[in-house]
Amino acid sequence: MAPLDVLIEDLVAANRILATENVVDAFGHVSVRHPENASRYLMSRAKAPDLVGRDDIMEFTLEGDPVEARGRKPYRERFIHGALYEARPDVQSVIHNHSRSVISFGVTGEKLRPVVHSCATIGEEVPVWDAQDTFGDTDLLISDMSMGRDFARVVGGGTCALMRGHGCSVVGTSIREAVYTAIYLEVNAELQWKASRFGKVKFLTPGEIEKINSRLGQAKSGEGYDRSWEYWCGRAGITLSKSSARMGF
Ligand SMILES: [Zn+2]
Repeated sequence: MAPLDVLIEDLVAANRILATENVVDAFGHVSVRHPENASRYLMSRAKAPDLVGRDDIMEFTLEGDPVEARGRKPYRERFIHGALYEARPDVQSVIHNHSRSVISFGVTGEKLRPVVHSCATIGEEVPVWDAQDTFGDTDLLISDMSMGRDFARVVGGGTCALMRGHGCSVVGTSIREAVYTAIYLEVNAELQWKASRFGKVKFLTPGEIEKINSRLGQAKSGEGYDRSWEYWCGRAGITLSKSSARMGF
């Protein structure tokens, strides 16, 4: 398989995994930067992620224009993806979702911070973007590039940000890394909420976060992101082709 085909296979797998792990439901989307053209990205047509197949994958310019729509309708919030690829050359994959546990942290002022080592990739404190600050009353969806760019500014150099009254978005230097962070962002939100019922929470320190992320980034093949990817593929009932499996493990 060519690198593009392998990447599309991983993108379809990411859709299924995020649905299986309850990060997305009927809504939410995942994209990957085009491996041969950094000013393009690949993402499904507007469809529930669990139902996405290879034929649904479309190519977009960073402005969100479909390169070859062939009658396929794109996600309305695709501008999140293009704006983040535009702002961050290091970003190779973007996930947007409305996972349940993160919502409370976007509407209460309670800071979402890592409580367990596996959630260190979310960073020291997850920032919150509020559409109201710049755009006033909207339907809360990021429906053009000016909103997308404003959101990308809040993500800054981090891996994720919440959207007040809406959801969150996550970036990664690979599909596997973005999927890992999206899943553990939801896990951390639930754990932090539960822990806070007992009293004061002791969060990971900046030094601990740095050491954990450094280890994950240097993990050998079969460890870290690859190991969790293999596990989540199994749970989602995905059998990867030999090419894709070889690329990751
Ligand atoms: Zn949304």
